Amino acid sequence: MATTEAANTASDVRETSANAAHGGHPPTGRSEPDNPSDTPTPVIGTLSPSRAGDFMTCPLLYRFRVIDRIPEKPAPAAVRGTLVHAVLERLYDLPADDRTAPAARALVGPQWERLLAETPELAGMFEAERLDQGEWMAQAGQLLERYFTLEDPRRLEPAERELYVETVLESGLRLRGYVDRLDVAPTGEVRIVDYKTGTAPRAEFEARALFQMKFYALVLWRLHGRLPRLLQLIYLGNGEVLRYAPDEADLRATERKVEALWRAIKRAMETGEWRHRPSRVCDWCDHKVRCPQFGGTPPPLPEASDPGEPADEILPARALGDDV
Ligand code: SF4
Repeated sequence: MATTEAANTASDVRETSANAAHGGHPPTGRSEPDNPSDTPTPVIGTLSPSRAGDFMTCPLLYRFRVIDRIPEKPAPAAVRGTLVHAVLERLYDLPADDRTAPAARALVGPQWERLLAETPELAGMFEAERLDQGEWMAQAGQLLERYFTLEDPRRLEPAERELYVETVLESGLRLRGYVDRLDVAPTGEVRIVDYKTGTAPRAEFEARALFQMKFYALVLWRLHGRLPRLLQLIYLGNGEVLRYAPDEADLRATERKVEALWRAIKRAMETGEWRHRPSRVCDWCDHKVRCPQFGGTPPPLPEASDPGEPADEILPARALGDDV
């Protein structure tokens, strides 16, 4: 069962960077996943938590993003999420005592400049959305201020930040994604941390929120044979922390779920039937104009649409807006 906490739950455990989880071999408490062979498994497809989430939300949305690869306008909330993540990542470059709220605020400007240099079209976002840039930047600052009510970064030494993880399941399905932060305790216990700039979901949607974290936990377990001890979602939008201790049954169930998702994606590829599934997500979906739900018509499918390798959308860096 997940536990959710309100603000003022700053961790009092100082973490160390021993046993970096992408390369180290945790010394004790191993729970070996099935690993029948050292022979590389042929890759049959690739899935990231974001795109798996797209398919679960709306198969047609997945198609537009992954198969058609139709560009989307930058969404201010999503870009703000990326900016806040960038600041939190850089914050831990500072000496521990310097990781303060003013220091985080001071990083906002330079990180925004860096994002703009990488993606110059972001500059047009404010005019297109009739947004005040100063206010938008201030909101990013407020989210960062809230972070300091939830954790004390002076007491943490993450083992990894923005860690790219990838593994190939026995079936040949490749799972990959970026973990915001990995903490490794002196005992070798691993905590996976993810920042969200939105608000914590209501109880009935918690499972969905945890799916992404279990996905990462599954990848790390398959890579290193050790169950991550804790999954922690930090919601900067309303100052809540969702914690969950996964067990082996959870991760095996997650593996079955991603395999089933992949089979459903393959089926859609083969039949060309990508169902649209209206929900609140439609409110900010960039593809309404071509969605039957709103009177549109999807474009013809691209000729060679192989779902085995379309998911490079998360490489070489995390896709803009996957952070919210
Ligand atoms: S508008 Fe809604 S139903 Fe249509 S593709 Fe987007 S999310 Fe799916």
